[in-house]
Amino acid sequence: MKLSDTVDTISGVGPKKQQALSRMGIETMQDLLYLFPREYQDRSTCSRISGLTDGISVLIRGRVMLSSLTGSPYRRKQTLRLLVSDVTVEEESGSADRENMIEVIFFNAKFIAKSIRKGEVYDFYGPVRITNGKKQMVHPEFSESGKEDMEGIVPVYPLTAGISQRDIRKWQRLLKSEITDEDMAEEVIPGKLLEENNICGINYALSNIHFPGNGQKLKEARYRLIYEELLVMQTGLMQARSRNLAETNECKTDPETDIWEYTEVFPYELTNAQKRVIAEIDKDMMSERTMNRLVQGDVGSGKTAVAEAALYKTVKSGYQGAMMAPTEILARQHYRGLSENLGSFGIRVGLLTGSMKASEKKQMLSDIAAGEIDVVVGTHAIIQPEVVFEKLALVITDEQHRFGVNQREAFRNKGSMPHVLVMTATPIPRTLAVVIYGDLDVSVIDEMPPGRPEIQTIPCDDKRRDRMYDFVRDQIKAGRQAYVVAPLISESEELDALSAEELYDDLKTRFKGFSVELIHGEMKPAEKDAVMERFYAGNIDVLVSTVVIEVGIDVPNATVMVIEDSERFGLAQLHQLRGRIGRGKEKSYCILLNRGSSKIAEERTRIMKESRDGFYIAEEDLKLRGPGELFGLKQHGIPDLHMADLIKHIGVLDKVRDDARGLLEEDPDLKSSENEKLGQRIKSMFGGEASLRI
Ligand code: ADP
Ligand code: MG
Repeated sequence: MKLSDTVDTISGVGPKKQQALSRMGIETMQDLLYLFPREYQDRSTCSRISGLTDGISVLIRGRVMLSSLTGSPYRRKQTLRLLVSDVTVEEESGSADRENMIEVIFFNAKFIAKSIRKGEVYDFYGPVRITNGKKQMVHPEFSESGKEDMEGIVPVYPLTAGISQRDIRKWQRLLKSEITDEDMAEEVIPGKLLEENNICGINYALSNIHFPGNGQKLKEARYRLIYEELLVMQTGLMQARSRNLAETNECKTDPETDIWEYTEVFPYELTNAQKRVIAEIDKDMMSERTMNRLVQGDVGSGKTAVAEAALYKTVKSGYQGAMMAPTEILARQHYRGLSENLGSFGIRVGLLTGSMKASEKKQMLSDIAAGEIDVVVGTHAIIQPEVVFEKLALVITDEQHRFGVNQREAFRNKGSMPHVLVMTATPIPRTLAVVIYGDLDVSVIDEMPPGRPEIQTIPCDDKRRDRMYDFVRDQIKAGRQAYVVAPLISESEELDALSAEELYDDLKTRFKGFSVELIHGEMKPAEKDAVMERFYAGNIDVLVSTVVIEVGIDVPNATVMVIEDSERFGLAQLHQLRGRIGRGKEKSYCILLNRGSSKIAEERTRIMKESRDGFYIAEEDLKLRGPGELFGLKQHGIPDLHMADLIKHIGVLDKVRDDARGLLEEDPDLKSSENEKLGQRIKSMFGGEASLRI
């Protein structure tokens, strides 16, 4: 058996199991070897039956004294009841009394019954239930006494339908006995680092991760595998970074063009944070290397102004620029703003969306190709193959977390090595940003424009709904506008959640005499557009909506955001929705309606009341949900991690960063015989050359 063999060569693995394994990403023996347990059960000692506690899982060793199978013998639904007595007590005193017995129960047990013989000794592992002094164990794992997979520290593997714990444990035992020494896993950590950090070798680690000798050995094994995974990732990213640094700037902007001349166009003074970020971008685009910059700024921090300044500089230097937004509504909003602001400097702005008439689109495409249009704003229509630019030098992605890596890559490829700017309100904690991008390429707008009004966040339930809408009416009478958001577009049979359509019907009657309108994602773009136009113009008092208005929408006169069935939204969404208000001068109100009473919804409401700070909210979200998709690491081209957790293991990561830097200083391409295995592993982790894509 070799590590490169496919799993179907294991006896007992047919097409079904092979498919199931493939769903888990396991094709070869090597993959199987790298399938690590998600936790361990400590079964290092057998428990005395007399001393068991209710609710705790334990390993017991007992002799089957009685065995009875009840229920119809023709059905599978037969129940097997065993009376099991503690063998240790037997050995000590010759027999055991009631105190030392437990009832073990299996349901649907016709087949299990065949494998258990009265009078024999078995090991059982499972949760204990004690009612009125009577001890029971339901559906434990069991095996004949002394078989190795029941004792010690037992690994628990992640599973998928069609694969059992037993299967995986059996296969791991097989690997352990069949894989020869020459074919064992390769050591990718250079010997020098193993020694300096006192880290165990790969085979010791793999052996102890699957078959922990004891707690200490398991700890050493885990540390090593975490270190390895982080080292591979970090070294790969650092290499990618230095490749980026080596890209020469073929779209240098003109040093004579003063970016600050543009910022006069704003009716307000830019914040210091905005000025700092604009200066960073300006410097990047004139420098010797192509810009790759991520701008993080909380909802409402004024990212659009920064993007505009960058576009101005680009166009005034003789190039074209483009900006992509995730929704048509947002693209149109940007188009309006940019046409006005950039337009006042004679810059020609064009809009490109999927819903344009064919003739309009044709004209637009030819204008873009001919360089008649300087700045193109659009949805992902911008990345369609028929869109060709004359000399695209800057691509800006707004709300970048809404786009996939491939979409952003396609956008970049519209130009020949254009500068790249991506903007997001989804915060990546500083520590992680440094891991991913290094120090250089992240700009943070960490300051809100002054004079932002207070937003009061108010939880509300069904009973107070009438009073709440009375309050909304008062706001409207005072000249303000309101959003009311529902989780669904139309009524659903499966989900007990309010739909925008139902809500619209209800609110039309509630707000007689005012203008109430509906917007959702399935409306025709022209209709959506018309509704938004009226809302911008202040001709709609209450806008009933789905989450189509979640990102980017900017209507300073709107002061109320009612979120119906708010428990159906995640924290990040709630924060984005609330970000639609509090943009003008007037005090604003975010009302979280909640008809249920789930713990998590309560927690979210508490956090929302507590803070308006996107970073804080994201961190709390992390605690509620655990890491994973939150930072959209995948979105940044970071591969899945199996062992390491970038939050929990930040300490290891610091060490790894130093080590990786040291390695690359001596051997940038990892060519030496000491380092080449690491280089190969990087390629397999990233599926090719690691790339750093923002
Ligand atoms: P976001 O970062 O969420 O994209 P926007 O760019 O939409 O934020 O800006 C939010 C609102 O704040 C807009 O109405 C914009 O005109 C306004 N704004 C931006 N910068 C400033 C500033 N320095 N002072 C006052 N208002 C500002
Ligand atoms: Mg925005």
